[in-house]
Amino acid sequence: MLEIGTLAHPAPHQDALYILLHRNRVLIEKDQRFLIPFTHFQPHAKMNAVYCGEWKGQDVFVCRFESLPKGFEEIDLRELLFLQDADHYLILSRAHQLSTWDRDHQFCGRCGTPMTDKFPTEHTKICPKCTLRHYPRISPCVIISIRKGDQILLARGIHAPKGKFSNIAGFVEAGESLEHAVAREIREEVGIEVTNIRYTESQPWSFPHQLMVGFFADYLSGEITPAPGEIDEADWYHINDLPHTPNPITISGQLILKHIENMKNGG
Ligand SMILES: [Zn+2]
Repeated sequence: MLEIGTLAHPAPHQDALYILLHRNRVLIEKDQRFLIPFTHFQPHAKMNAVYCGEWKGQDVFVCRFESLPKGFEEIDLRELLFLQDADHYLILSRAHQLSTWDRDHQFCGRCGTPMTDKFPTEHTKICPKCTLRHYPRISPCVIISIRKGDQILLARGIHAPKGKFSNIAGFVEAGESLEHAVAREIREEVGIEVTNIRYTESQPWSFPHQLMVGFFADYLSGEITPAPGEIDEADWYHINDLPHTPNPITISGQLILKHIENMKNGG
């Protein structure tokens, strides 16, 4: 289990483990380990080792390579996430998100001065000239399973392959509540109104920095009208006759499974 530990972070040390990234790929040792011991890898002076938390009593850091180092193989992060259990998912997701934030916030957005890291003590970058602070970026997104009687609404976005359906989802806008974002996204993407919006669960999704917030909602009114340029097709599907839906490791797959279970239990 990952202990995030938001208090004082340790500096890299000899008992630590490392997650090594190259673009969106994770470097692995030949025996398929992605948590690399210090004895197999030591960060050099110019490399930012970002603290991720504690894993089974050991500190974990993430480092990012600009080019593929010798002696390692690489595997796509999403592929690895789908192969691992929930605990591994959390640590990989967190490592990728922190490392991406570190790479993408090197300069002050206000005055352009190179930022100073407060590593290893905390995940904060400070501008030495104007004192602007940056914290790891987290972007909330709502994702919703919508019910109408014994049916749920499934949609296929314009970038999804033929035959692969999912829930309605979208980014929360500035100044908007989560519930408002749910109603707006559904209205915009499929043209219907919903009621009884209720929170279900959430999942970090580090591609690159979303926090997916899952909801159930009930159909209220309107005809399904897919938004041109966003949704290719959308329809009501009976819970006993569903098309291809997302892997249950994703919140999208989980929402569908839980919603159907509730409906079958009379909920
Ligand atoms: Zn500045």
